[in-house]
Amino acid sequence: MTAARTVVVLGSTGSIGVSTLDLFDQSGCEVEILALTAGRNVEKLAQQALRWRPRVAVIEQESLLGELRERLTGSGIACAGGALAVQDAAAMGADWVMSAIVGAAGLAPTLAAARMGSVIALANKESLVCAGPALLETARLAGGKVIPVDSEHSAIFQVLQPDCITRVARLILTASGGPFRTWSREQMALATPEQAVAHPNWSMGAKISIDSATMMNKGLEMIEASYLFSTPAERIDVLIHPQSVIHSMVEYEDGSTLAQLGPPDMRSPIACAFAWPDRLPWPAPKLDLAAMGQLTFEAPDAARFPAIAIARAALNAGGGAPAAMNAANEIAVAAFLDRKIGFLDIAPLVSDTLDRMNGVGDLAASVGDGALEGAMMVDASARRVAAEAVSQRPVFH
Ligand code: NAD
Ligand code: MG
Repeated sequence: MTAARTVVVLGSTGSIGVSTLDLFDQSGCEVEILALTAGRNVEKLAQQALRWRPRVAVIEQESLLGELRERLTGSGIACAGGALAVQDAAAMGADWVMSAIVGAAGLAPTLAAARMGSVIALANKESLVCAGPALLETARLAGGKVIPVDSEHSAIFQVLQPDCITRVARLILTASGGPFRTWSREQMALATPEQAVAHPNWSMGAKISIDSATMMNKGLEMIEASYLFSTPAERIDVLIHPQSVIHSMVEYEDGSTLAQLGPPDMRSPIACAFAWPDRLPWPAPKLDLAAMGQLTFEAPDAARFPAIAIARAALNAGGGAPAAMNAANEIAVAAFLDRKIGFLDIAPLVSDTLDRMNGVGDLAASVGDGALEGAMMVDASARRVAAEAVSQRPVFH
């Protein structure tokens, strides 16, 4: 019997965080949780802490630390608050760190875990988009590893043959198409936040659900794939596959294409990232392809979903462009959820921000110690530019 693996879950109260803890429950695997961290959901964090007995429970919103302490009184679990406390939790040197904070807020903690050489199960795609090369290099130098959790990247990770990387012709990212796959632009113009978060196949946090509806999610994933698998934008394609059964594919130069399949359940890629290169036995939902009958595919419609082309251009521009794009998108998504802009304003707001930040692509993407500061500076400027653009737009509804 091997010793329990030590684990930190960053963003434990979110969709991925909850799936991670549920997988531990379902598989009965031996884990010792060192820390659980959350943004604001103090009630759920306290519940999880009482169940999982971490050494420390961390709430990023410092004003909620008193409430967390009250809820955990007498439990013997240490409590901490604030963004730096989240980074400290990430840097505890756990064997395995689930990086599942949403947005660029996940970058500093994920880098902190990378510096410690922990194995990082990476769900937080925004940290790769903001500072991918630096994050991967930091993990490599510290003797750690970044294993993708995003289902598409987990799929590619599983079917990419390490000895044949130079023989890859294309990475094919599959996409469900989101809730508006068949909607006209006129319908999309009137889409409400409630309609946009209602994803047909996956149950996810609000931000990634909106990204799926605009297909910016696929744009972010293209950048993520480019960094993770050292593949240029022109060799990454997007294919709509509404059933979300094939999670992505690798096409090799000999004409062979390898795909990974599974039900749309994030516990599968989390299990893969936890056990790799082994496989975790757990009562996973299984595919019934005969019952399903058909898998279908279509090309994405660039006119209705311009976000993919915006992301491709940002990736090609390089430097600070992906971080600026990500920040503008975070502001635009928040503004849409607050009903300050319409659904079809999201993509133009992101591309206008990139236009206004003309030259951001020439900023060298820094590596090493300066990477976090560099990415955060670009992030802060893009947020200012995008927020100004939001304030100039007519109020929605
Ligand atoms: P979510 O909104 O459900 O959860 C986010 C978590 O981060 C919560 O625990 C929240 O409390 C915490 N958090 C929010 N802001 C924070 C901050 N400023 N500082 C510290 N913690 C903060 O999001 P999710 O759907 O679980 O997604 C998490 C990440 O995983 C995202 O980057 C998303 O793109 C990625 N991802 C999610 C899915 C999915 O199925 N949900 C699939 C692939 C990738
Ligand atoms: Mg994905």
